[in-house]
Amino acid sequence: MRVGIGEDLHRVAEGGPLMLGGVAIEGTVGLAGHSDADVLLHAITDAVLGAAGKGDLGAHFPSSDDRWAGADSSLFLTEALRMAREDGWVLANLDATVRAERPRLAGHLAAIRESVARIAGVDASRANVKAKSGEGLDAVGRGEAIGATAVVLLEAAP
Ligand code: MG
Repeated sequence: MRVGIGEDLHRVAEGGPLMLGGVAIEGTVGLAGHSDADVLLHAITDAVLGAAGKGDLGAHFPSSDDRWAGADSSLFLTEALRMAREDGWVLANLDATVRAERPRLAGHLAAIRESVARIAGVDASRANVKAKSGEGLDAVGRGEAIGATAVVLLEAAP
């Protein structure tokens, strides 16, 4: 088995939708970024790449490359999983936390979890997504940024 961790943080931008785990959350809060700025998929992708020993997201999908401008971040995760699979690794499970002051994510977590699981090609029981507020502290707490952390476990393909 192989374990990996992923972290990401994006600046909040006015105007949605906010992309989280492939789900478009309509509202006034969005995120700045070169791709669709899906901070959760970026953290999960980095965790997959880490577990597979394949470097990081920026190395594979650099923001200097116009191909990834506005890109659907699900492409990054499926490509990372494809690279891992080439080396004989498949996703055992993932666990992630999104940190956001607004919008409140509790009502969106089930849809986000289903979406992440669908993109990752696993049952939703293997793709856990949690949410935390920033408690009014740091850039997340001031509503200036949304962050995500993910842990991924890969196991040998059957
Ligand atoms: Mg990112």
